[in-house]
Amino acid sequence: MKVVVVKERAGESRVALTPDGVQKLKSAGADVSVQSGAGVAAGHTDAAYTAAGATIDHDSAAIYTNADVVLRVLAPDRDEMELLPRNVVLIGFLAPMTSPELLSQLAQRQVTALAVELIPRITRAQAMDALSSQATVVGYKAVLNAAAASGRFFPMLMTAAGTIPPAKVLVIGAGVAGLMSIATARRLGAVVQAFDIRAAAKEQVESLGANFVGFHVAEGEGQGGYAQEVSEETKRQEHEHLRKLVGDSDVVITTAQVPGRRAPVLVTRDMIEAMKPGSVIVDCAAEAGGNCELTEAGKDVIHNGVLIQGPINLPGTVPTHASFMYSRNVVALLTPLLKDGKVTIDLQDDVIGAACVTHNGEVRLGHRPAVAAAAK
Ligand code: NAD
Repeated sequence: MKVVVVKERAGESRVALTPDGVQKLKSAGADVSVQSGAGVAAGHTDAAYTAAGATIDHDSAAIYTNADVVLRVLAPDRDEMELLPRNVVLIGFLAPMTSPELLSQLAQRQVTALAVELIPRITRAQAMDALSSQATVVGYKAVLNAAAASGRFFPMLMTAAGTIPPAKVLVIGAGVAGLMSIATARRLGAVVQAFDIRAAAKEQVESLGANFVGFHVAEGEGQGGYAQEVSEETKRQEHEHLRKLVGDSDVVITTAQVPGRRAPVLVTRDMIEAMKPGSVIVDCAAEAGGNCELTEAGKDVIHNGVLIQGPINLPGTVPTHASFMYSRNVVALLTPLLKDGKVTIDLQDDVIGAACVTHNGEVRLGHRPAVAAAAK
């Protein structure tokens, strides 16, 4: 059974499988072929893969020959799609909710595609939860970027030149990324406040030493621990609540998301205009439309002296550890499927049934009610 690890497209520094993962898949009975150079940007040389037991392939097309499984971080582009063998199992971030064309192409090629974004948040699947592992990276790097861009120290300093108060950081959205932002900003010494609308967020925020300034919105509690879109009235209340909090903050990190929807706009132009010049906003939801009215994905915007960063692919900027975690997730997902020298896909399995978006020539996105509803 052949598992293939290909080089990601230009601009993506992560790799889907690290040498440590090669060893684990070999122990599970797979042969692993790695495209030459696939791991270099994440810190893994061809020699390290060879030492772990992989075969290095220099031909970006021939590597797909006889592949049973293709491991990727991001979805294949059009050219790579043409190379996928029929009936291969593809694993990666396939953005299934926003890529109908990709899914129909994969189905046409009889590919069995497992979209890691749809792995359910059940206890058994925690080790496979790539969305969480990469969100951890997002929350960490967003705070480092904010600290680097800010003209202020984060910690309180008492120096001979005078006392410097700690930076005031507001984190909006206290999910996986938000909690990591809180922890990182606290480690740097900032005073941290956090806002969310889910009841569970309060205890988690407080356990990290931050002040919870959110409020519980029952209608915002979705399935599986996620939030869902709220009414216009709730949005108005949130706006009133956030206006002062944002204006008083030196740094705002936004991470609020609703699966399958455009990210909610929570930081508006008037709030930004109430911030001090030199303040920094890092909008981690930029790729999903942004939590901030003035965000431009992939760009830095300066408005009235306030810097608004809309980073895309923050996990790709910490490629070594983002790949380490993603590789562990992929191995945890794939290993149980490797039985008797072949890959077994059981759509009745909770995890595989949820993550599988194409199989036997069909797109299977509507099989989960929550996903189907969110996709509307
Ligand atoms: P997410 O990325 O979908 O959203 C990030 C945060 O934005 C969430 O906390 C959400 O409540 C918040 N949000 C959405 N709309 C908002 C609004 N209008 N105003 C304010 N905040 C808003 O969420 P996530 O990071 O993937 O995690 C969601 C929850 O799932 C968290 O509690 C997390 O701990 C939990 N989780 C559980 C497991 C597991 O059990 N295996 C794994 C991962 C995450």
